[in-house]
Amino acid sequence: MAKIKMTTPLVEMDGDEMTRILWAMIKDKLITPFVDLKTEYYDLGLLYRNETKDQVTVDAANATKKYGVAVKCATITPNKQRMEEYPQLTEMWKSPNGTIRSILDGTVFRAPICIDAIKPVVKNWKKPITIARHAYGDVYKSVDFATTEPGVATLTFKGESGEEKSVVVQKTDGPTVWQGAHNKAKSIRSFARACFQYAIDTKQDLWFSTKDTIAKVYDGEFKKIFEEEFVDYKAKFDELGIEYFYTLIDDAVARVIRSEGGYIWACKNYDGDVMSDMVSTAFGSLAMMTSVLVSPDGTTEYEAAHGTVTKHYYKHLKGEKTSTNSMATIFAWSGALKKRGELDGLTDLVDFGNKLEEACFDTLNDGIMTKDLVGLVEPGFKATAVNSEEFLDAIAERLAKKLA
Ligand code: NAP
Ligand code: MG
Repeated sequence: MAKIKMTTPLVEMDGDEMTRILWAMIKDKLITPFVDLKTEYYDLGLLYRNETKDQVTVDAANATKKYGVAVKCATITPNKQRMEEYPQLTEMWKSPNGTIRSILDGTVFRAPICIDAIKPVVKNWKKPITIARHAYGDVYKSVDFATTEPGVATLTFKGESGEEKSVVVQKTDGPTVWQGAHNKAKSIRSFARACFQYAIDTKQDLWFSTKDTIAKVYDGEFKKIFEEEFVDYKAKFDELGIEYFYTLIDDAVARVIRSEGGYIWACKNYDGDVMSDMVSTAFGSLAMMTSVLVSPDGTTEYEAAHGTVTKHYYKHLKGEKTSTNSMATIFAWSGALKKRGELDGLTDLVDFGNKLEEACFDTLNDGIMTKDLVGLVEPGFKATAVNSEEFLDAIAERLAKKLA
């Protein structure tokens, strides 16, 4: 069988620990036997990031801007403990995801991968719910302090023009805590555009929620910017028969729980943090979740939502078999290959991505699963736990049949 051709390279970002092991196995077993794979390879493994003083992360992000599509393996974000584990580190390098996100100016979309044998905790959820999380500002870039005596706090802005704006936050009679937060119109606008574009790409309704009845100016600005940006997308929404609507966050929560799923829920940074954990837990697990970073110009970076699965890696190093779930990483590859195929007009490549996902579903539906999923299946469904390699072999076998 002739291998499927590619014209433009994918930006490939390798990573760390167990996911790096899975990465190589996925390529060997599921991709390169069928696709004449073209990638521009960047090693984002911690040691090479250290060797290049993290320049490799910046280079990978810039290459993504150039080519438009990337696939990324999970990576270690060093902390104090990692500095002891890897004494050769010259600096506590920043999170690669954070660096890439700020260069691509993106929004993160996360959606559960659903199978019949694992039912969401919320009984009426029939289709995936995608969370679009704004990844800049608010409480994540806020400043705060505590005071102990009576007094008054004011919020003051000094413009470069010399103009000043000031407001009394509160006059207080005793110990008090304070916080100052901000967001930038430019970032909110990018968030809005990424959400509208993603709704069009995936042909799903878009919901957006804030608390503008309370934060009238702050959240009101989010609502207003979304309305302004929607003007550019409205015709396309009408053509596709999809809808955009805005509602209060508390109303959204009630509607989400009562819904069947099948839409995108755009959330401010903090709401997105909390709600994406709620949605992913209710649907099953982080290893059954797709994650894609989309920038306003349509540049995409596909990744897994989970980390590098350190505990499994240390078992693997001792020569023990692990049962690590590779679904999220495989779907990062299939998502990226399909996107590349769409952009380059390669229907065979798009078809391959779809078949690869189907082969994954067939494997799970046949009851062949990694350990983490076996515990989640409905009573009566027969599931057998296999190791990391056996799981990929089972998918490869089904994929080969589909492509034959
Ligand atoms: P983690 O790698 O997601 O793993 C936490 C636990 O969740 C694992 O020990 C395992 O539980 C389970 N798990 C996660 N993914 C799994 C999979 N694919 N298959 C089976 N079980 C899975 O999170 P972590 O241990 O907190 O973080 C490890 C490293 O990952 C850190 O250095 C962190 O910086 C990095 N990280 C990277 C990313 C990213 O690049 N996208 C995201 C988050 C964290 P059991 O041990 O009980 O089986
Ligand atoms: Mg969180």
